[in-house]
Amino acid sequence: MILPIRLYGDPVLRTKARVVTDFSDVPRLAADMLETMYDARGVGLAAPQIGLSKRLFVWAEFEDEEEEGEDSKSRIIAEHVVVNPALEVLDATLVEGIEGCLSIPQIYIDGVPRVRALRLNYQNERGEAKSIELEDFNARVVLHETDHLDAKLFLDLLPVETVGEHRSDLARMQLEAKAFLKELKASKGKK
Ligand SMILES: [Zn+2]
Repeated sequence: MILPIRLYGDPVLRTKARVVTDFSDVPRLAADMLETMYDARGVGLAAPQIGLSKRLFVWAEFEDEEEEGEDSKSRIIAEHVVVNPALEVLDATLVEGIEGCLSIPQIYIDGVPRVRALRLNYQNERGEAKSIELEDFNARVVLHETDHLDAKLFLDLLPVETVGEHRSDLARMQLEAKAFLKELKASKGKK
């Protein structure tokens, strides 16, 4: 099932997500989140982005391809369900790169600093402990999604002036987020 994605301005995106202890609904939820992510052409989606304040995200792992000019950037080699992530920095070198966010549609900004490599310790959809080492693009995706669980957005990592250039688009999203919440509240009231 494709779920509505919460937009910039929705308070759930600025709420620290809770640790997951009950895994009973995680497989179904993760399947819906992956479907929603692919539908929106994203590479990662965190639970707060669908209105759930849980420490859970899904992401698609891409083949790490350093060679220029090869059309392999779009090759997904695995999809992951990550619950209760804990990150260990392996290479703290800051690398600037371009990022976007499904909750901040159509805005892509270069110069977002992220550490180059990390180890991701987490639980999968069945609650089993897992660990994976990531670098460059994949590390960036995981850092971006983990930030969502801590109520942070990639805009927070950029200079105020840079974010300011997108002020009108962001204001429009805030209004849209408000309208969505109003509608949601109304439809819940009817039940
Ligand atoms: Zn995002």
